[in-house]
Formats: sequence, structure tokens, C-alpha cells
Amino acid sequence: MSELITRRPQGLYCGAGGFYIDPWLPVDRAVVTHAHADHCRPGHGALLAHHDGLGLMRVRLGPEAVLEGVAYGEPRRLGEVTVSLHPAGHVLGSAQIRVEHRGEVWVVAGDYFVSGAGDVNTTCAPFEAVRCDVFVTESTFGLPIYRWAPQREVLDEMRAWWADCAAQGRHALLMGYSLGKAQRLLAGLATADAPGPVCVHPAVARLNAAYREAGVALPEAQALTEAAQAKGLHGALVIAPPAVQGSRWAKALGPHSDAFASGWMRLRGARRRRAVDRGFVFSDHADWPGLLRAIEATGAQRVIVTHGDEGTLVRYLGEQGLRADAFQTEYGDDDSQAAADDASWAEAVR
Ligand SMILES: [Zn+2]
Ligand SMILES: [Zn+2]
Repeated sequence: MSELITRRPQGLYCGAGGFYIDPWLPVDRAVVTHAHADHCRPGHGALLAHHDGLGLMRVRLGPEAVLEGVAYGEPRRLGEVTVSLHPAGHVLGSAQIRVEHRGEVWVVAGDYFVSGAGDVNTTCAPFEAVRCDVFVTESTFGLPIYRWAPQREVLDEMRAWWADCAAQGRHALLMGYSLGKAQRLLAGLATADAPGPVCVHPAVARLNAAYREAGVALPEAQALTEAAQAKGLHGALVIAPPAVQGSRWAKALGPHSDAFASGWMRLRGARRRRAVDRGFVFSDHADWPGLLRAIEATGAQRVIVTHGDEGTLVRYLGEQGLRADAFQTEYGDDDSQAAADDASWAEAVR
């Protein structure tokens, strides 16, 4: 019997349904997990995704793209299969794709963030485990060294750093990827007891607007169309994409301290390469325990690992008695992909 989902040169393919999931080359019909550049690529004949992500995809893919939105859990018949989308907790509109064919269920998770104790991504629908026979998982942070501290602790550290900056008469420039990360930082830090005003880079403001259009209640933040606007403020937190580091825009902010918020900050080498004053470990992806929790919750007896540290996770799952293998995909598993995603949003803002 042929497999329900296979890897083709264009991407992950469901033959019985006649569609691809997050294809990296143009195809006739795509089902797309979320709007990050490496998962949502241009040139498809038709694209199905969660309706919250469509506004973002429209910005990315242009007015001629044929997009169709569905709600979470809403079944769609495609060919001989039933497809439904389920929350992945990663960014606005992010979804796991459930595919059912003659009683067999596969779930392709795309990128996901699973909540730990009290850790919920409040800027999008939280991850929901979906029971399945085969679970296709990411492994961006698929090594045992990746264990996130509770997000409240990390946000407290960020707030303390910001308060220090404000006390020294400097702004706090906090860099995080503009789709997803920046909104989580804004939601977590723009609180009533904040040490100062919160501002955002225009690229972040554009994406904030997309979140608000989709009904997410993000705190207000002034968009710094000209960085020099920050000169009139005292002790501001400025949320911006990492690309601004060392730029003329950043210099125009005036005296500031800079920091980077990313799962990669777990690695000392990455912190050094970034050459920022502070690195905060803060990710929109599952950490190692999160991946294992998510996999267990699906009840899947077979797991296919994609983009990241496939080998380690495949080996570990095999030792746990699961059938585990990998698909070689062309999704980003590093900083440079996320940076490319950022660059495309900055492009869209211009
Ligand atoms: Zn992503
Ligand atoms: Zn990804």
C-alpha cells in the first residue's frame, strides 16, 4: 500500500488528496501551515490555510494569489481525503494539517510551540494535540540541550533589563523576528507596570496590524517611522527585527542597549556572533521536552521528523519503541531562514 504522505521534489505530497503541504516549489494545490517565508512560498495554483493567516499570506504572495481560508477543525474534502487544520501555537493562523484517508490519520505539524506550565502563546490559538497514526513533526530545537525556562521568568528578566536601561537614561532595543516573536514580546512586556513606553519598528507595526485585524488584542505601541522619534522619549522599549542591529535606524534611536530574543540564544556561540548586550532565550518553537510531550499526546506509533536535528530525535524515538524516520525538507532550521523571512516583511512594508 502506498503511503498517505510522501516526499516529492516539490514538497510533502498527499497523492490521495492531490495536494502538497508547505511545498517549497510551485504546485497546483497547496495546504499551508503558516505564513513564515520558508513554509509559505509563492507560485501555487491554489492555497488553503487557516483564515487568520490569509491576510499575512496576501501581503507576502500578492493580489493575484488564489487563497482560501478555513476555520480550525473545519473538515474539507480534497480528492479522496478529509483535511482539517488544528492550532499549532506558533504564530497567527498557524496550523497542523490533519489528513484522514479510509480511517488512517496523518498529522503534519509544521512549526509549533507547546505550552508548558503556564506557558501559553497568548497571541495565537494554543497548540492542540491531535490523535493520529503518523505524526510529522518539526525538530528545529530537537536536541536535549534545548529546554525553555518558564516564559514568565524570561519576561521578568527582560523587564528588569529594560528598567536598568531606563534608569540609565537609555532605550532598550529588543530584537526579535517580526512575525510572531515581536507580537509575543509586545503582549508580554507592554503591561501597566512597564518601566517606560513601548515602541515598534514599522515592519513590526505592519504585522501587529494584521494580528489586530484577525481579532488578537495586542497592546498599543507607537510605530517609529523615523527612529529619531525615540529621542523625545525616556526609557523606551523598542521592539524591532534583528536586521536593524548596527543600522542607521538603530543609531538614530540615540543611546540604547540592545538585546536579542530567540531560542538560539541558548547557544553561547550564537550569543557571541550576535554581539548584543543581552541574549534572552525565548522561542516560538517547542523545546526538547515540548517536542516529546507533543509527540506522546498524539498517540502516534510512527513519527516522521522534519527540519532540524532529525537524527537525534529519530534515534531517541526509536529507543522509545516508536517507528521513526525523517523527511528531508527545505524549510529553514536556522537563523538565516528567519532573517530571510524578516527581510521579506520589511520589503512588504516599503
Ligand atoms: Zn515558522
Ligand atoms: Zn519551520
